[in-house]
Amino acid sequence: MSETYQRPLRLGMVGGGEGAYIGNIHRIAARMDGAWVLTAGAFDVSPARGHAFAAGLGIDPARSYDDFAALIAGERGRADAIDAVAICTPNFTHFPIAKAALEAGFDVICEKPLTATLDEAVELERLVRASGRFMGVTYTYSGYPMVHEARARVADGALGRIRTVQVEYPLEWMATPIERAGNAQAAWRTDPKRNGRGGSVGDIGTHAYHLAGFVTGLKLEALTADLATFVEGRALDDNAHVLLRYEGGARGLLWSSQVALGSSNGIRLRVFGEKASLAWFQEQPNELLLAPLGGETRVVKRGTDGLSAAAKARTRTPPGHPEGYLEAFANLYAGFAEAIRARRQGREAGEIGRNIPTAGDGLKGVAFVEAVVDSHEAADQPWLKPVAV
Ligand code: NAD
Repeated sequence: MSETYQRPLRLGMVGGGEGAYIGNIHRIAARMDGAWVLTAGAFDVSPARGHAFAAGLGIDPARSYDDFAALIAGERGRADAIDAVAICTPNFTHFPIAKAALEAGFDVICEKPLTATLDEAVELERLVRASGRFMGVTYTYSGYPMVHEARARVADGALGRIRTVQVEYPLEWMATPIERAGNAQAAWRTDPKRNGRGGSVGDIGTHAYHLAGFVTGLKLEALTADLATFVEGRALDDNAHVLLRYEGGARGLLWSSQVALGSSNGIRLRVFGEKASLAWFQEQPNELLLAPLGGETRVVKRGTDGLSAAAKARTRTPPGHPEGYLEAFANLYAGFAEAIRARRQGREAGEIGRNIPTAGDGLKGVAFVEAVVDSHEAADQPWLKPVAV
C-alpha cells in the first residue's frame, strides 16, 4: 500500500476566509470521508484577516500564509507538503493561483467557472495535461447520487434517443442591486473584470450546462442566446435564455436567472427521450422521476435496491435519511482524492473517482459562457424576428 493510502491527503486552501461562502462548504466536504486534512492556507485577500481565521481553524501558524504565492513557496520544499491546493476565490484569481500551483507540482481543486476568460481556460487545461497533475473542478451537481443514477439510465438506453433537454437554474438573491448595498459576493459577481463576461450565465448557467451534458452525454454543437439585465445599472446579465443544439439532432433550452423571485436554489433538469423522460430537482435531490411512454411516472429513490453502482458508491445512508448538498460536495472531494491516489499508484480509479469534473469540463464551461455572450452580442442577431401582429 502506498504512502498516500496510509494517510489523508493534505489540503491547502486559497480563499474561503471569514464570511466567504464556498470555502466552508469545501472544508466540510473535505472532512466528511476522512480522505483530506486541511493543513495550510492563504484564506483571505487581507493577510491579517487570513491569519486570524487560520488560527480559529487550528492551522499551524507557520502554514498560514500571506497570499497564494507564499503558500506555494512555503509548501513546496516541505517533506510534509500539501498534496493539493483548493481555490475558493473570485473567478479572476483562479488562473494565476492554479497556474502557480500546477507549475510547482501540486494537484489542484478549482471552483467554477474555471477562469474569467477563455484564453486562460485553454492555457490551464493545457498546463494540466503537460504537467501530468490532477485538476478537479467543483461542478457540485455531478456529486449527487441520483444525478449519477440519471446518467446511468440514459447510458443504459432507458430513455431511448434523446429529443430535448430542459435545464434551468433560477435564483432570487440578486433581484435587487445588492452589489451597491455592501454585498461583497454580489459586488465581484457583477464586475466584468473580476467575474468574466457572463453574469448569471457564468455564475450558475455553467452549472446547468455541465449538469445537462453530464447526464445526457450529449455534445453541444451550437447555441443562440438572449441575455437580459433586469436590475438597472448592473454591468452583466442577470437572466439568460439559451437555445441549444446538440450533435445528433437533440435540442435543448437553458435558463439561468439571479432575479427569479421564490427560487432558492432551483436547479432542475428534465430530459425527454423517445422511450421515457426523466426529471431531477436539486431541492428534492433524493428522488429521480422516470416517466415511460404511456406508463405511470415512477419515483426512484436514493438508497433503494436496483440502483446503479455509480449511485450506490455515492450514497452514505439508507433511504429516508435525506442526503443533499454537503454529501454531494463530499462525493466530489472523495472522488478527487481517489483520482489523485490512483494516478500516483498507477492504477485505475475506483468508482468514486470516475466521472468526476476535471479541467476539460472547466474549459468546456468557459467556452460555453463565451459562446453565449458572443451570440447575444452579435450585431445583427439574425435569429431575432420581429412579430408583426
Ligand atoms: P466570496 O466572495 O464569498 O469569498 C471569496 C474569498 O476569497 C474571501 O475570503 C476573500 O477574502 C478571498 N480572496 C479573494 N481574493 C483572494 C486572493 N487573491 N488570495 C486569497 N484569498 C482571496 O466568494 P464565493 O461566493 O465563496 O465564491 C468563490 C468562488 O466559488 C467563485 O469562483 C464562485 O464562482 C465559486 N462558487 C461555486 C459554488 C458551487 O456551487 N460550486 C458556489 C458558490 C461559489
